[in-house]
Amino acid sequence: MNLPPHAKQIPSSRHHIRPSAINSGARSVVTKLQKAGFNAQLVGGCVRDLLLGLKPQDFDVATDAHPEEVRALFRRSRLVGRRFRLAHVRMGREIIEVATYRANPTSKDAEQNSDGRLLRDNVYGTLEEDALRRDFTINALYYDPSRGTVIDFTKGMDDLETKTLRIIGPPENRYREDPVRMLRALRFAVKLGFSIEKKSSRPIPLLAHLLKDVPPARMFEEILKLFHGGKATKTYKKIYDYGVFGVLFPYTHRFVQKHPAGITAKLLLGGLKNTDLRVNQGKPVIPAFLFTILLWEPMRDRMKTLHSEGLAPLTACHMAAEEILAMQSGHTLIPRRAAVPIREIWELQLRLENPRLRRPARLLENRRFRAAYDFLLLRIEAGDADPVHGNWWTRLQEAGLSQREQLIRERRGIQKKKTKRKNHGVSRNRRGEKSQHPERR
Ligand code: ATP
Ligand code: MG
Repeated sequence: MNLPPHAKQIPSSRHHIRPSAINSGARSVVTKLQKAGFNAQLVGGCVRDLLLGLKPQDFDVATDAHPEEVRALFRRSRLVGRRFRLAHVRMGREIIEVATYRANPTSKDAEQNSDGRLLRDNVYGTLEEDALRRDFTINALYYDPSRGTVIDFTKGMDDLETKTLRIIGPPENRYREDPVRMLRALRFAVKLGFSIEKKSSRPIPLLAHLLKDVPPARMFEEILKLFHGGKATKTYKKIYDYGVFGVLFPYTHRFVQKHPAGITAKLLLGGLKNTDLRVNQGKPVIPAFLFTILLWEPMRDRMKTLHSEGLAPLTACHMAAEEILAMQSGHTLIPRRAAVPIREIWELQLRLENPRLRRPARLLENRRFRAAYDFLLLRIEAGDADPVHGNWWTRLQEAGLSQREQLIRERRGIQKKKTKRKNHGVSRNRRGEKSQHPERR
């Protein structure tokens, strides 16, 4: 392929990509495209990660073949995307994303809204133009597996060397075109342990508000990438410091801002630490749990108001949950598959903390019991619930059938004692939280 003289080509002897680390499906896609007479390379995060010796999440291919030509070449492929039209090629269990080289979106053909946000950019271009329209220099490297060379138009190799995250082109314009790039900058900085170059980091707090206009569905996906990448705690701190957290989660932010070491802050630190542990052990994580934590205090605050207006606790909880989830969905979509468990986990808190609950053992069969119990323990750790409840449910789960009866009687007994004490003038709050509680001493 003919490259302009200013394109740097780095031969295999001068970089550390091990051919064996390349996904065989991705390699086959590149080879087949090249054999059909097209140009094709691996590109983006996979090249970056391979050069850094990390395991790529996914493999992307860039080519001068148009999506329809890719579609025609691969039987097991389909065209996807509106904003970016590209082909998904299935190779075994993998899906390889194949995108046609695109031109810089400043082109008059690209649609933009009044903030400068790109609505569509399907303007095809050369390999160099494709490199320049990418977000960061380290994400704009191409690797040709047949020749073993890395192609670099943006000094991405130098930035990899110095661990620098640098946006391509004028930072402010590039963030305006696509505000999600700000989230990506913060995410990559944490994930890779890179520093964001000054010019690239400075506009972020000033432009963070533009994230409000990103379609909520895309935002939901980005949130999951931020918090389910194995470094959620650090990422949270980073997006908080850059003023981005408040734009994504305004209702949660109010509580953290008012009480920086309060319940939400503690729940988040505890919850994100668990999430990181699970992700790093290869265990599954569900989006619902993240939102359960984030929106708990806003929901409960609203629930208290509704309760004080005369609604029964469970009804108040249900209504407050509906309201808060709907409000948050305007910022980051919360799909139904997440909203249903979130509501159930919240409602179960009321049951788990109710010593008069009828037939408590039946709750152990509830499909959300485990998540609700985990959340209760997290709340206890954050000082938001009485440990007596956590202890009791832990013991109930460990108990045999006959011991269960005993435990349930015991709990009812506690309840009676509590009432008696109350009669003897011991003051306590609505949930009966008091340090002299028999199980807390
Ligand atoms: P990850 O490890 O999260 O997959 P990635 O860099 O591969 O990181 P992808 O979302 O898979 O991220 O995108 C692949 C490539 O597409 C990026 O490396 C970058 O070159 C380009 N890209 C992705 N999103 C944008 C964007 N918002 N603006 C410009 N280029 C982008
Ligand atoms: Mg990727």
